[in-house]
Amino acid sequence: MTDDRIKDSEGPIPARQEYTENVETQPGEITTDSHPDAGMRIYGSGKPVRLFVAGLHGEEWKDTTELLKNIKPSETGTLALIPLVDRGKYVSTLSPDYYSGPGKKILRAIEALKPEIYIELHSYSSQNFEKLAGKNRLELIGVPAYSILKDGVLLGSVSPWIRRKYFPKEALCLSFELQKGSVESRKFTAKMLAILKEIQSRDEFIEFMKKEFPAQAKKAIEDYRRFYGEI
Ligand SMILES: [Zn+2]
Repeated sequence: MTDDRIKDSEGPIPARQEYTENVETQPGEITTDSHPDAGMRIYGSGKPVRLFVAGLHGEEWKDTTELLKNIKPSETGTLALIPLVDRGKYVSTLSPDYYSGPGKKILRAIEALKPEIYIELHSYSSQNFEKLAGKNRLELIGVPAYSILKDGVLLGSVSPWIRRKYFPKEALCLSFELQKGSVESRKFTAKMLAILKEIQSRDEFIEFMKKEFPAQAKKAIEDYRRFYGEI
């Protein structure tokens, strides 16, 4: 079993004020990027290359980071994990500043690994449910609404800022939104991750979804077509 933990190639980023603001800290807790979960770990080798990231902004790490820490290595191909991207100030991944700022290490990982399968884990507060899964998300926010999967877990694509520029259209790019504080959400996401870490291609995932979640698969494919013009 391989456990090639690699350190962030540029080393820990020096502490900056914005990383320590708005973060609840325990005595002795590290609040910067030098946190042990902030590095990338890579299991296995070869194709397909899968990159899973969690804790992308604000306090979302509290509901998502543990899921990537507990994941078992894939039986085939490569599994790269960044359990904690950033826990500083909340910047939306729909903002052009996210991937060049707090999410920079995601871009570096995508450029280095060229993953065929890319998964982001996010969390949401129940008051934002309508904003994420409501029918008028496309009108209001400019991106398709999330599909409601199960146990409060929502499924959508990733920010157009990286989808279009960094991935070929055959890549599988998914974003899961877990309901904040929900044990059911976490358990269901863990099951989905166990499947996704063995998935070989986007088409294999589409087949899985058609069988297990036909309505959501239909919506996701339609949204994708409408948004990107093809699949
Ligand atoms: Zn998020």
